[in-house]
Amino acid sequence: MSRPVCATINRQALRHNLAIARRAAPDARVWSVVKANAYGHGLARVWESLAETDGFALLNMEEAMLLRDGGWRKPILLLEGFFQPADLALIDRYRLTISVHSNWQIKALAEAQLAAPIYIYLKINSGMNRLGFRPEQVHSAFQKLRTLPAVGDITLMAHFADAENPDGLTEPLQRIARAAEGLSLPRSLSNSACTLWHPEAHHDWVRPGIILYGASPSGDWQDIASTGLKPVMTLASEIIGIQQLSPGDGVGYGYRYRVSQAQRIGVVACGYADGYPRHAPNGTPVCVDGVMTQVVGAVSMDMITVDLTPCPQAGIGSKVELWGKQVKIDRVAQAAGTVGYELMCALAPRVRVEVI
Ligand SMILES: *Cc1c(COP(=O)(O)O)cnc(C)c1O
Repeated sequence: MSRPVCATINRQALRHNLAIARRAAPDARVWSVVKANAYGHGLARVWESLAETDGFALLNMEEAMLLRDGGWRKPILLLEGFFQPADLALIDRYRLTISVHSNWQIKALAEAQLAAPIYIYLKINSGMNRLGFRPEQVHSAFQKLRTLPAVGDITLMAHFADAENPDGLTEPLQRIARAAEGLSLPRSLSNSACTLWHPEAHHDWVRPGIILYGASPSGDWQDIASTGLKPVMTLASEIIGIQQLSPGDGVGYGYRYRVSQAQRIGVVACGYADGYPRHAPNGTPVCVDGVMTQVVGAVSMDMITVDLTPCPQAGIGSKVELWGKQVKIDRVAQAAGTVGYELMCALAPRVRVEVI
């Protein structure tokens, strides 16, 4: 008998969400971002459902190799490029497109002997100040790169700090325009938020991630309510215990919840060691037998406790959705002070996964 906690991955929802991303940016090609093991969904499990994409973007060589060895022949983009010069041998062998964000990488490319030139995404620092060349450095980086035998086509790439905001792109786009002056190169600027909300940043290739998995780039599910995006991952379990509490009784570690009147509590087989956020407070939404109710008491390693007042019919074995269609992952994340991205990525290896 296995523990009832289970994550279900819906392939049809992935295909559907990719189509929505495409429709949002009809003139751009699409890098489907599948870093972090496809945002916790399992790259090996899901990539074939996204095979309509134009390319896959990720970070780890292992993930790129998994795709190539699995038969993916179209482009693969390494979003952070390479981490040491020796990586270029595999990049060459596996024909990967790489982001170049630092001078040491240009130097490594100058010294590399490759079988054929590789495609470069030259990264502009849009003002976020993580990776990339400042606008005034971009021309010189480009001039150095274009003369190298190891370097093929060059695309300009940038990422935004505040794309959820209606005017979050104004300044960064000015910086990018300054960097790109006089360079007629293709551009790839748009994450999910830009793909949905900033057509002015679509250009040649968009790079949606979170929307492929059906969650909101802003962290607020209402922002994507009208897009038709469907949640790909459902985390579900069952009630494995019932407690009938009397006024004054407490629940779980620290008695973080106390009842003021008689109340029925369900114990659910899912805890933070499964990837459920430990910081989910009393009131975090959960769905029992199709009825919305809430977490009460502290989340523990292997269990959470939920209020059964709205669902008196519920008992041992009742189905519980932690997130999915009925309980938006963004609502759980918001309650726990985080974002849907983190919850997906944190799905624990011990959770059984079913692909439907
Ligand atoms: C992760 C990532 C994306 C995708 O971001 P989402 O917000 O998930 O759409 C796009 N571009 C880069 C460079 C990234 O690192």
